[in-house]
Amino acid sequence: MKIVRFRAGDEIAYGIVDRAEDGSRAELVELASDPIVGGYETTGRRLPLSEVRLLAPVIPSSKVVCVGKNYLDHVEEMRHVTGGGLADAPEEPLLFLKPNTSVIGPDDEIVLPSISENVEHEGELAVVIGKIAKDVPAERALDVVFGFTCANDVSARDLQVRDKQWSRAKGFDTFCPLGPVIETEFDFSDAHLETRVNGEVRQQTSTAKLIHSVERIIAHASQAFTLLPGDVILTGTPAGVGPLLAGDTVEVEIEGIGTLRNRVV
Ligand code: MG
Repeated sequence: MKIVRFRAGDEIAYGIVDRAEDGSRAELVELASDPIVGGYETTGRRLPLSEVRLLAPVIPSSKVVCVGKNYLDHVEEMRHVTGGGLADAPEEPLLFLKPNTSVIGPDDEIVLPSISENVEHEGELAVVIGKIAKDVPAERALDVVFGFTCANDVSARDLQVRDKQWSRAKGFDTFCPLGPVIETEFDFSDAHLETRVNGEVRQQTSTAKLIHSVERIIAHASQAFTLLPGDVILTGTPAGVGPLLAGDTVEVEIEGIGTLRNRVV
């Protein structure tokens, strides 16, 4: 199922993506509440997908947990930025947080901060947590997952290097685009992930190449933090990170989920 959050007129609601009965167009089946906490009761209303504005499919309850250096080719390309020892692939998932105020939705604008000269894209697979989770073993990690979406871990690379830790560089407002949908039945074993800037492919991988698996990441993160329904985990980016300039359009596409598109200003 593909879950969206949307605005129609003055109203914000959740919906399930469906086809019209005659197959002619994509429609939304409106839900009575946030399905992560309220389930799938519908209001009975159907709307054409083309007539609503999609929003970030989830506003993280408390945090966005991120994993650094989780694709080997990206670890290699970051060697010159973060230095030798630090750039080695971490033996366990390397966690950091983005504030939930960094989240924006599809077609929202990524705003370049005036204090950075080098903002880069990082296309990533994101996990949306569906249940309260603490010390979840990897074997049961998928039980606490609500679904999956596309994310862009936008990063002010110059500030990341200067600060020597990542909170500010990755925490600016608008630096965590999410969407366009949450896919609740996503097969993450070998899905194609691609990041494009102005149509040019910058990053390409398969989620099969994650160093630390989705299950391991959830288990590891829940040892440290209680994960709340609506929290989001970004699983890391592959090689090919590169600059975003004002006027650019950046897209993160994951096979089976969709395309997250944002303009840079
Ligand atoms: Mg990242």
